[in-house]
Amino acid sequence: MTTATDFTQLSATAAALVPGIVVADVIVTDRAPWSGVVAAGDTLTIVDLYGNQAVDTLFYGAADHSLRYSAQTTIAAQGNIFLTTGSVIRDQESQPMMTIVADEVGNHDTIGGACSQESNTLRYGHHTKHQHACVENFLIEGSRHGLGKADLVGNINFFMNVPVDPDGSLGIVDGLSAPGKRLALRADTDTLVLISNCPQINNPCNGFDPTAIRLIITTPGVDGQV
Ligand SMILES: [Zn+2]
Repeated sequence: MTTATDFTQLSATAAALVPGIVVADVIVTDRAPWSGVVAAGDTLTIVDLYGNQAVDTLFYGAADHSLRYSAQTTIAAQGNIFLTTGSVIRDQESQPMMTIVADEVGNHDTIGGACSQESNTLRYGHHTKHQHACVENFLIEGSRHGLGKADLVGNINFFMNVPVDPDGSLGIVDGLSAPGKRLALRADTDTLVLISNCPQINNPCNGFDPTAIRLIITTPGVDGQV
């Protein structure tokens, strides 16, 4: 594991990438899921505490879970397959859900999908069948909101590096992130965020060593004051 950075010790106010009043500050342990609603106007900072930790993420309308993240509309609207500052996270109607307002990495994936027990078995052999995986995290955490397998769609992999070659081939390779790198998402509408802190140990997406992340939600202060 990479040496811990100050981001485990910093106050939430200091660790948040976008200044504001802190309304939530959570450590998501390695391999664990998390979910929560980010209210319109509030910002979610994700801190890759130890570096190269894939954060598989889905988005749903907080009041209407039939509205959900769409990689297709998000990619089509911005004309680029990679996500970074300025990228608007869109639902299947192409309506904005959240916007990446700051990014210390510069490149996040939304075509690699989420690992599952089934895909692990196919890719890495039957002995991986009982390893924990992102789809299981999504199902466990999603069940708290009435979400089931049919509600899972293509996700975003924050901090995961999936380069695409000129011939269209892609791979999951060593990450571009590093300890303490952060990303900030501002909610354009009340949005349910469903996260799997990826447990994968068979490819480089987590540096073969899943680690904890930190989530901080901030709300703007009056006249920008905090
Ligand atoms: Zn995963």
